[in-house]
Amino acid sequence: MAHKNYSRREFIWRNSLTGLGAVLTPSFLTNKPPKAAATSSAMPIRSTSFLVTEPPALLGGKPVRTKDWPAWPLWKPEQDEKLLLEVIRSGIWSRDKVVSEFETRWASTVGAKRSLAVVNGTNAIITALAQLNIRGGDEVLVPPYTFIGTVAPILANGAMPVFVDVDPETFQIDPAKIEAKITPRTKAILPVHILGLPANMPQILSIAKKHNLVVIEDACQAHLAEINHQKVGTFGHAGCFSFQNSKNLAIGEGGAIVSNDEAFMDRCFSYHNYGNPYGTVAGAIGTGTLIQGTKLRLTEYQAAIGLAQLKRLDAETTTRNTNAAYLKNKIRHIPGIVPYKLYDSVTRGAFHLFPFRYQKEAFKGLSREVFLKALTAEGIPCSKGYATLNNMPYLNDAFQSKNFQKMYPKEMLSFRTYVERNHCPQNDRLCNEEAVWFTQNMLLGSQSDMDEIASAIEKIHANADKLLSQK
Ligand SMILES: *Cc1c(COP(=O)(O)O)cnc(C)c1O
Repeated sequence: MAHKNYSRREFIWRNSLTGLGAVLTPSFLTNKPPKAAATSSAMPIRSTSFLVTEPPALLGGKPVRTKDWPAWPLWKPEQDEKLLLEVIRSGIWSRDKVVSEFETRWASTVGAKRSLAVVNGTNAIITALAQLNIRGGDEVLVPPYTFIGTVAPILANGAMPVFVDVDPETFQIDPAKIEAKITPRTKAILPVHILGLPANMPQILSIAKKHNLVVIEDACQAHLAEINHQKVGTFGHAGCFSFQNSKNLAIGEGGAIVSNDEAFMDRCFSYHNYGNPYGTVAGAIGTGTLIQGTKLRLTEYQAAIGLAQLKRLDAETTTRNTNAAYLKNKIRHIPGIVPYKLYDSVTRGAFHLFPFRYQKEAFKGLSREVFLKALTAEGIPCSKGYATLNNMPYLNDAFQSKNFQKMYPKEMLSFRTYVERNHCPQNDRLCNEEAVWFTQNMLLGSQSDMDEIASAIEKIHANADKLLSQK
């Protein structure tokens, strides 16, 4: 029966990743009622020696774990529904007081002067780039190890993404590789705190200062992460967040821009509301549409959900940090398993994902593909993460567009040359060979849940030879 259970779970998990690179569509979580966030169990942890004698679950042995993982997102009717119902019954559903309250809370939570809520993280980045005047003809430095939602906004503004390779130890943009990519067209650096681990902001900021570049942080996975006790998203000119369903603060869809620059935030507000007057964006007679804008407003009921989630975010972040540190320490001695490294200045992670590098040489040459299957079969869902974003067809599609053709010289739009120039070997290795992820909800479990993850990896390591025949 446990075996049957597992098959269903694996089926759904696989399908949730199909075709999406590694977009986190946690349907494998949401197909179950959101019960039992704390999944600690009285079941004793099996010892490693027992596991070594037990065949791998992929070959029909008993899986290390058959229990569910904590559900995501969480919804607690008693404490979460009062405001939401008030909003729904009020009939005031478009942007009003509750959105403003959410913005004020988000700004104070991250320690920024201002925050603007928008429809999603992608449009938060589009808005920030546009209002910092990053447009056609400009180049933006960005890491390739990220979600498409980082890069699409650059193209949407008519700017050119230039990929800077990552540091495989931290999974973040490698500051040592930034300067070589700067050209007279370079206007901005768009560092991503990918996986919820902070990028090296002190170094990035000093390079930006030296070359007079704007810095926009993609903090879409990094709610409450900190460098020297300062929240990420507040280091650059602007920080962008996502509240999509899988994110550590989940609304379903939603996003925010934070900044200390009041005039910039006024322009962002105006832009998200058709360019109508707001704050310092003021017409002589105070009416009429003033700047080129669009419509990106959050609804009142989304904000009500956000306020409910925000109450738990800090405690959840603490749990993720504790479990991540514990798990890292447990698996780092397994040969061929190299967990993430945090920069010394990091005082808190967000751990949207828990990443490690899998080095198959220490597993008798067992491919990452089979390792992932074997680990999933043991009851530990995992994924290989991102595909390489720096050579996909969407780039060429933009280059072939009328706007790009008019904005850039022909030699910049040759896709072949572009792909060569933007080759990032470290990223290739992470994407194509080494990276393995666990999702943030798994880190909301108990210490014994972490023990089971470690046991399952140890079991596969001990049985690697038996798995070699698997495809
Ligand atoms: C989720 C995400 C985005 C986009 O946010 P959406 O709310 O999904 O539009 C951008 N960048 C990164 C790194 C993300 O994880």
